[in-house]
Amino acid sequence: MTVAFVGLGSNLDNPVRQVESALGELDTLPQTRLLKRSSLYRTAPVGYADQPDFINAVAQLETELAAERLLEELQAIESRHGRVRTFPNAPRTLDLDLLLFGEVVLRSERLTLPHPRMHERSFVLDPLREIAPDLKIP
Ligand code: ADP
Ligand code: MG
Repeated sequence: MTVAFVGLGSNLDNPVRQVESALGELDTLPQTRLLKRSSLYRTAPVGYADQPDFINAVAQLETELAAERLLEELQAIESRHGRVRTFPNAPRTLDLDLLLFGEVVLRSERLTLPHPRMHERSFVLDPLREIAPDLKIP
């Protein structure tokens, strides 16, 4: 069993509904259970400013899946929500980032852990602190 944290974000197509339904879907992934979720945070866009505000949240999961497999499941949820990758920091119906996977530190072509930009993003750190105030980021 591994405790993992996932960051959720949306700024298209009813972002509150996108994030709320994605939180429910995380709980239905194979061998995975949603332990905790943060409240919803409204945040200004990063990188490319001319787009709507985001709704962000963080979820704490318990999973028996391997990290790469969990990432695949997250990307499948993104696809079901109509995610289209256009350019970096573009508006999106749903973004699911694997923030932390236990204490794993890893850099492969498809997956970097901890998520490489989480430390500089208050839209990740604020909801993370809400649900896991004592967490140490490796
Ligand atoms: P961003 O979230 O930075 O806007 P994307 O969601 O389009 O960008 O992700 C781009 C790529 O980042 C994905 O194809 C994925 O393979 C890779 N990636 C590497 N590490 C992670 C991680 N920890 N969580 C999510 N994606 C990751
Ligand atoms: Mg992403």
